[in-house]
Amino acid sequence: MSETLNFKSPREQLCSLTLDELKERMKQVGVPAFRAQQVFEWVYLKGAVSFDAMTNLSKEFRVRLEEMFQFPAIRLIQTQESDETTKFLWELSDGKRIESVLIQSFDRRTVCVSSQVGCPGRCAFCASGKTGLIRSLSTAEIVEQVLHIDRILHEKGERVCHLVYMGMGEPLDNYDAVVQSIRIINDENSFHISQRRITVSTVGIVEGIYRLAREDFKVNLALSLHAPNQSIRKMIIPFAKKYPLEEILMAVDEYAILTKRDITYEYTLLADINDGPMQAEELVSLLRKKQCTVNLIPYNPVEYLRVKRPKGDRITRFRDILNDGGINTTWRYTKGQDIAAACGQLALPVTE
Ligand code: SAH
Repeated sequence: MSETLNFKSPREQLCSLTLDELKERMKQVGVPAFRAQQVFEWVYLKGAVSFDAMTNLSKEFRVRLEEMFQFPAIRLIQTQESDETTKFLWELSDGKRIESVLIQSFDRRTVCVSSQVGCPGRCAFCASGKTGLIRSLSTAEIVEQVLHIDRILHEKGERVCHLVYMGMGEPLDNYDAVVQSIRIINDENSFHISQRRITVSTVGIVEGIYRLAREDFKVNLALSLHAPNQSIRKMIIPFAKKYPLEEILMAVDEYAILTKRDITYEYTLLADINDGPMQAEELVSLLRKKQCTVNLIPYNPVEYLRVKRPKGDRITRFRDILNDGGINTTWRYTKGQDIAAACGQLALPVTE
């Protein structure tokens, strides 16, 4: 990746374009469509980090590309590693910063991408929403998080194979850019990450769920539920006031029917807020008839927040009640806490 980005570039961002759109742009300037295919290959398969590296293109054409497009759109500032987790800090063309996380377990290489700078969610237990929303990311800024991590893995003979929209931001609040990024990432001419291996996580933006259910691709949906009823949910998730639980669940049920995908309900366990046996029972009644999995996430500490992680036996008890009630559960074994890369710990530097 080049060391400096052209900050005030009016150029289109290359990684915001699908292959068909790039072909269209080539046509507009009188260049044959196969050139677009070559550029795509250089970017997504051969790991080129600048137009200059695309050596089978003429110098003249490379200069033309440089004039037309911005590439790259993000720059790696820092990486932090812990056991199976690497956190990447990126700088965007306007100097703003975002983070992504690579989780390596067994033969899985999962990238957790950010979709916004900051987050409009302001959930009581999450670091990402502390600043509120600063701005949404462009498609290229999302795609390139995967691109550059994939390149790093490629050097070790590995590839990104799973993708989760669970970094900073609310993906369905940046709907168009997120959907376009899925199209590019899923394209057989780029990473070709299968739709089954892509998960969008949402706080519950109802109209976004209905729209996503009607796209011509089917990705997995995770709902950040975190409470068995509207009154607890309203206390910890400000968006719950705008989107009542009942309406969210109707949208999610329709998503499951139209896409034939089981839904994941994420449930961050917060001591003395949503982690009691009564709440577990209530959650069983709420989800009993649904084909779903509840992903239990013990709260990861965030500085300045007074919320606490429940003790281990309380977590097990909660899980046992769900299992006895016939609900599938997974327990998200917390990764990357020591480098603040676990769920809810991604945040902007204090200076933002
Ligand atoms: N805005 C989207 C994407 C964020 S995904 C959403 O709300 O789904 C990150 C997941 O981690 C969400 O389920 C979020 O609620 C959860 N989370 C946030 N802060 C957390 C924390 N401190 N500990 C554990 N999980 C947390």
